[in-house]
Formats: sequence, structure tokens, C-alpha cells
Amino acid sequence: MKYIGAHVSAAGGLDQAVIRAHELEATAFTLFTKNQRQWKATPLSTFTIDAFKSACKKYNFGSHQILPHDSFLINLGHPVIDALEKSREAFIDEMQRAERLGLTLLNFHPGSHLHQIEENACLKRIAESINIALDKTSQVTAVIENTAGQGSNMGFRFEHLTTIIEHIEDKSRIGVCIDTCHAFASGYDLRTEEACEKTFTAFENIVGFQYLRGMHLNDAKSCLGSRVDRHHSLGAGNIGTTVFSWLMQDQRFNGIPMILETINPDIWKDEIAWLKSQQKNQKNSLLYLS
Ligand SMILES: [Zn+2]
Ligand SMILES: [Zn+2]
Repeated sequence: MKYIGAHVSAAGGLDQAVIRAHELEATAFTLFTKNQRQWKATPLSTFTIDAFKSACKKYNFGSHQILPHDSFLINLGHPVIDALEKSREAFIDEMQRAERLGLTLLNFHPGSHLHQIEENACLKRIAESINIALDKTSQVTAVIENTAGQGSNMGFRFEHLTTIIEHIEDKSRIGVCIDTCHAFASGYDLRTEEACEKTFTAFENIVGFQYLRGMHLNDAKSCLGSRVDRHHSLGAGNIGTTVFSWLMQDQRFNGIPMILETINPDIWKDEIAWLKSQQKNQKNSLLYLS
């Protein structure tokens, strides 16, 4: 079973995000549980939590189909202690918010060394930040996203993800999310089926599919290995449609949220419908019908 959706807006209330996902005919979605550009958030009220949970129930979204994303301000590998503490506090809050909403995953970008500490020291710091947050929660899995490697962002090599995981105490609550645009921009080719096989064989050997908790499906305006993070609509960028058909037909990507962060929300419904049509069974049934 493939769960396919988009990063929907939570404007007007968290339950509105669920309704938006339903309107897209999505079977998965991502949302921010607070304003992603502010540090502080008002605590979740019982009303908000209940409204969100009942919308999820009404529209058939289980926690395994929902991949909340944390704030862009958080840097779990920050080189400066005060700033690191602020990020850690905000991250714990994000994890606890997810938990109170009945969610089991939280997607985040690992962090940046800001050219002030070594890459490996930064990765260890990130792992320590995650350990602290896992200790303060009990249900939520921390899902590290690979990055394009823009600026001093860590997480652009599969090895970075592995190093972080190696330092996590509770490995049952750590996972990864692979963003196709970020992977491509960081140098992993995805333009042909052979390239996809090669990239995900490397992923299997270095990280392992047992840690895969989500995918972000984005084409790229940026070029292979450019380390520039610019998303594009499926098929409109430098990656092309092959990888997305390939992903839809590969069983290793079953049972996890696969989320569009493509640039034109007006065509998300079409992109979701197209992705669904790329699954083998559906393709066959369409052939039968025509
Ligand atoms: Zn992200
Ligand atoms: Zn992403």
C-alpha cells in the first residue's frame, strides 16, 4: 500500500489541514503543528487536539500516514551552546506537540555547523539533541531528512544519516525521510531506472530500508550535485518523471507517507492522481478499462 499526499496548509486550524488533504484525494499528508517561522507557539488546546483527531478519524488518516514537519528555525547541531539549547527546547516542544496530537512521526532537517565546528562534531551534537528529545517523549519517532547540502547543512550524504543513527540510544524511534530533490542536488542521480537502483542500493547498504519512514517527492530546478535546494513540480525539473514511476512500483516504499513539496499547490491533486496511476496494479486495471 502506498500512502501519497502533500504538505498541506494548517491555516484556520490543524483540522483544516486534514480536510485539505482529503480534498486532494490524498492518503497521506504533512503539516506544521505551529507557525514554522516563529520560536514560540501557544500550547495545543484540548479543543484543537480533539478537532484534529476527529478529522483524522472521519477522513481515514492513521498516524502512519501523517508526517508532521518541524520549524525551519531549529538547528540541532548549532555550534553555540545558548542557541543549541534554544533549538533543543523547541524540538522537544515539537515532539511533544506531535505526541499530544496522537502522531508517531516528526520530520526535521538535521542541522548546520555554520563553519564553526567540524562536520563530525556537528553530527554527534545532532544525535545528542535527538537523544534528549526521545528521552522526553515515548511515542514519536524522530525522522531525519536528507538535505541538499546547501550552505553548511549536514545530512546531504547517506553516511551522515548513518553516523547520527549510530549515536542514537533508542534505535526503535529513529528513522529517515529521503527527499528526491535534496538527494539529486546533493549528487545522487535519479534520472533513469538504473540510476534509481544505484542510488537506493547505496541507501540500503549505508542506511538500510528498515529506517525509511517517509519520502518527499519533488522534482528539482537545481542540477545534479549543485547542492542547491530548489524544488519543482513532478516532470518539470531536471530529474524528470522516471524516478516517481519507479518509486510507485517498488514495494520497499510501501506503508510510509510519500509527500509532495512541489511548487504549485494548484496541481497537487493531479500530481497525486498521476502518482497513484503509476502503481502497477492500477496501471493494469487502467489498461483493462481502455
Ligand atoms: Zn524538510
Ligand atoms: Zn523535503
